Amino acid sequence: MKKFGTVYLVGAGPGDLQLATLRARACLQMADVVVYDNLANRAYLDWCASDCERIYVGKEAGRHTLPQEEIGATLVNLAKDGKTIVRLKGGDPFVFGRGGEEMESLREAKIPYEIVPGVTAALASAAYTGIPLSHREHSSAITFLTGHENPEKHTLSVNFKAHAQAGGTLCIYMGIGQLPRIVSELKAGGLPGTTPTAVVQWATLPRQRSLITSLDAVCDEVDAAGMGAPAVIIVGDVVRLREPASWFENRPLFGKRLVVTRARAQAGELSSMLETLGADVIELPLIEIQPKMDRTVVAEIFAEIASYEWLVFTSANGVHYFFETLMKAFSDIRCLGPARIAVVGKATARALRKYHISVDVQPSTATADALAKELIATGSMESTRVLIITGNRNRPELMRQLEDVGGAIVDTLPLYATELVDLADDPAAARFREEGADAVLFTSTSTVKSFIQSAKHLELGPNARKPALASIGPVTSKALKAAKLPLAFEAKDANLETFVDTCVAHFGAAQN
Ligand code: SAH
Repeated sequence: MKKFGTVYLVGAGPGDLQLATLRARACLQMADVVVYDNLANRAYLDWCASDCERIYVGKEAGRHTLPQEEIGATLVNLAKDGKTIVRLKGGDPFVFGRGGEEMESLREAKIPYEIVPGVTAALASAAYTGIPLSHREHSSAITFLTGHENPEKHTLSVNFKAHAQAGGTLCIYMGIGQLPRIVSELKAGGLPGTTPTAVVQWATLPRQRSLITSLDAVCDEVDAAGMGAPAVIIVGDVVRLREPASWFENRPLFGKRLVVTRARAQAGELSSMLETLGADVIELPLIEIQPKMDRTVVAEIFAEIASYEWLVFTSANGVHYFFETLMKAFSDIRCLGPARIAVVGKATARALRKYHISVDVQPSTATADALAKELIATGSMESTRVLIITGNRNRPELMRQLEDVGGAIVDTLPLYATELVDLADDPAAARFREEGADAVLFTSTSTVKSFIQSAKHLELGPNARKPALASIGPVTSKALKAAKLPLAFEAKDANLETFVDTCVAHFGAAQN
């Protein structure tokens, strides 16, 4: 008989991926099968191995949630097959998540299981709106309640009157549909109509919305704001302690949906800077960077590498591929000889620092033209051997100026290729078409070219936000203008930090 697999009942947390536990991620990484329902964030599933089977048991159009017994039976059958299974649930599996019933099914069938707790919605809603659920002077009890046990059941399953009398802070899950009845029961139980009340929808996600009001006004305000599930209602004096706008909703790019177009391997740095400031980032890599080199050229250049007086790097990618290739050929960094080093921009200088190499020349504006001028101004170009390390889309001006104006002897070493990406089946492109964005951030001319070539895969749907087009610097802006695309804003200096600052300034100005 096959050994039974283990079932992990895992709480995913409220939605923000960073709030999942390390254990939750480890379980997802080792799962053969993941069984999930309506998660606030599907991106949790990206942690699973690519061959992990994904089984959706949530509510689908035209049919209701899979009955609980069937979910239990599914878990049992998969485990009997020897599979490692993650049953992933929003928030915590034991807080209104029916994790208890699933555990019972497993226990009856003698299937080994483990429970991984998660950040439950009430805690997340309180934290992300700045409401302390307990406070020495205001509340010494916290109660989690449910408005209804399941959507089909339209009666209150909880004695709200009694909870009103008990006092403390009440956190109500699944309460929006029953809000008028909940409010009237709480008042009948003795809570004054002025009791501070908060409603937090989609807590911890970029689409979080919250409102602070009183028990008397909450129904009208929820209607007026068009708020709905999923939301937690927090009732009690502690709500008063909240700032008018929460730390989370107050971040400068909160609620802004921004598209990062860099190649996947490079996108992370920009995305995380924007996310820290509150942006909802769609990573839509429009280009792909692949190593691509001519072995003969590489061998010839490496044979004489120590004879170059200047090494010029035009991108961080160039730096990485250069050292990777160099270290395959030689094992000692001293093979480089005494060459001086020049770069176009900050990110390239930073990439070199990772190899413990500092830069001799970096122009104050990050363009090839400015670099050529500064190199020529050093007075060291005449009859000097210069190596430019670059990709396949290298613009020849740098070489030309160094040769024609500076009198240098220039070799070029292309090490990688920038390819356009096919967006036909890309899920990020699908999200962009449906939802649109507040801005698309172009970080190179290749991203602009790809955007134009992929136009048919990026056509916006009727409810999509129409994005502003933004550029990291003059060269990229020129590509937008040449394509007659309207440029909304440009970074003053072509580097990621300034680009992010410019986004903040742009959206800040738009709000005032
Ligand atoms: N097990 C989950 C709760 C599932 S019940 C947990 O521990 O959080 C579903 C209810 O949870 C929703 O109706 C809503 O009240 C609440 N909820 C879940 N995610 C939420 C979120 N991101 N923001 C606000 N409420 C949320």
